[in-house]
Amino acid sequence: MTVDKNIILLAGGAGGAKLAAGLVQIVPPERLTIIGNTGDDYGYCGLTFSHDLDHLVFKLADALGSTPDFATAVGKAIQTLVQATGGPSWSEATDLEWGMSLTRTAMLQEGKSLTEVTRHFCELFGISHTLLPMSDQPSPTQIKTKEGETLSFPEWFVQRNWEPEVEEIILPQSTRTSAPLMQALNQADIVIIGPSNPFVSISPILEVYPIKPTIMDIPEVVVAVTPIIAGKAVKGPAAKLLKDLRLPRSVAGVLGYYSDLLDGFVYDTKDDGLLDDFGVPTLTTDTYMKDTADMARLAQETLDFALSLLEKGN
Ligand code: GDP
Repeated sequence: MTVDKNIILLAGGAGGAKLAAGLVQIVPPERLTIIGNTGDDYGYCGLTFSHDLDHLVFKLADALGSTPDFATAVGKAIQTLVQATGGPSWSEATDLEWGMSLTRTAMLQEGKSLTEVTRHFCELFGISHTLLPMSDQPSPTQIKTKEGETLSFPEWFVQRNWEPEVEEIILPQSTRTSAPLMQALNQADIVIIGPSNPFVSISPILEVYPIKPTIMDIPEVVVAVTPIIAGKAVKGPAAKLLKDLRLPRSVAGVLGYYSDLLDGFVYDTKDDGLLDDFGVPTLTTDTYMKDTADMARLAQETLDFALSLLEKGN
């Protein structure tokens, strides 16, 4: 089936990147824009690391048939040297991430925008779909803990292993998005919120002005895919954050969190029936993506669901 609608995906670097890798297999480049979170970008050894954007690039390249090299020999050597010199011990970057971060930092220092750097990487990796950072301005997420400290995102995530308990996620309030992103959003028919961490991958995107008000206004249909299956995250701290933030530790917590935005919600058959009383159109299916074929399957099912809502005029 030819896709003749404009689709936007909001994504982080794991679950969101898998759905992105599914969508590039079924939606032509001119119809799909992927917006990546940069809230967990960080500076290390003088370099700018963009974890989610890089992982999106790796996953898309993989789905399109040019598997990048994930070796870690150089990364481990640098890490050992840094630690032996008294530096932090929490970067787990692969060789490719070190290489991309070197290149990104040099390009940014030459005056290129993060949007231009990301386009450059997509071209290098044979990706013709559009991948955009949520903003060209730095927009670091911070974590305020119940013990009163405010930590940078990588400190909390890598160094502290998601501890101590989270009081609040602090997102910058004055970041604006880029002109190319606004252009894509203004032409969007469908927005898909990927199965990413709602608090530290999706909210940082929505908080960048004016992404959330535009999503509430322009696209006809907004659907989200759950990152929580049977009360657990496939990977990462999403379920723990639901608990820390006193939200239901289930798909109901995710749906409730997005409720002002959504026209439809995709969740797992393992949770079938849990959302029957919420009054939001839903699709239940196997939402776990174990391989590239699974990514395409879930992307197709999500897209068909969104198109059916569009047809009904939601
Ligand atoms: P991050 O920035 O690297 O944490 O990436 P994301 O926010 O995109 O992804 C983290 C979320 O992806 C976690 O909450 C996982 O539960 C979810 N996730 C990972 N793989 C899958 C999957 O195959 N299916 C679903 N439904 N969620 C997944």
